Amino acid sequence: MRIVIKIGTSTLAHKTGKLNIRAFEELTKVISNLKNSGIEVILVSSGAIGMGAGKLGLGAKPEDIPTKQAAAAVGQSELMYMYDKYFGEYHHTVAQMLLTANDFEDEVKHKNLTNTLARLLQLQALPIINENDTVSTAELGIGDNDTLSALVAISAKADLLIILSDIEGLYTADPHKNSEAKLISVVENADEVASLAGDTSSGLGTGGMLTKLQAAKLVTAAGIDMIITNGGKPDLLYDIAEGKPTGTKFLRK
Ligand code: GLU
Repeated sequence: MRIVIKIGTSTLAHKTGKLNIRAFEELTKVISNLKNSGIEVILVSSGAIGMGAGKLGLGAKPEDIPTKQAAAAVGQSELMYMYDKYFGEYHHTVAQMLLTANDFEDEVKHKNLTNTLARLLQLQALPIINENDTVSTAELGIGDNDTLSALVAISAKADLLIILSDIEGLYTADPHKNSEAKLISVVENADEVASLAGDTSSGLGTGGMLTKLQAAKLVTAAGIDMIITNGGKPDLLYDIAEGKPTGTKFLRK
């Protein structure tokens, strides 16, 4: 089984932009264990801009492009340093891949990135992918890692894309505003739920539910299942691996 797991800034960092050590520790432990059980894992991780902003003491998420890119340059190395340190404890080797929209569009580049991914998995390494924010911004590039994770899942011919969010999954209404909102456990057709997107974008992250539903459309059309679940509860990844109903599952077409 090959899975792509997308981890958002809100799962990895506190609102201050500083690393959420507890969340990071739990998540890297569970993912290490999934790999030990024989599951092939590819991570798509955000957090560069948020962690860079924290490290540079910029406080809130930067707005202008050069500051975002500078924060990403600082935060990306911090992010990989932390992944290397935590996954290293469980003897897993991390591999950084920074990609842009053009890498998926250009045939030669796309073939190269696909070959690299395949070889890394053969070598039992753990690819950790982010958008190359220093040359590509929301305005110019893929812009959000929900879409990036969908492109990666399709390129890697994954069986499943898991998007870790700060809520349990897709609800019938915004659960922050409506106490009647109910979790939808299965979505048979990702094209039919666009109206439920709302605006759930959290502090430091980029994507909200809208970009997650767009990712669901892309991957399910390519024959890949997708699950949105709560990144704050990493043990849910075990439930997913065991096939237990978790969060919201979008069925492949
Ligand atoms: N690439 C951005 C970062 O690492 C995040 C994009 C997103 O959150 O979707 O900060």
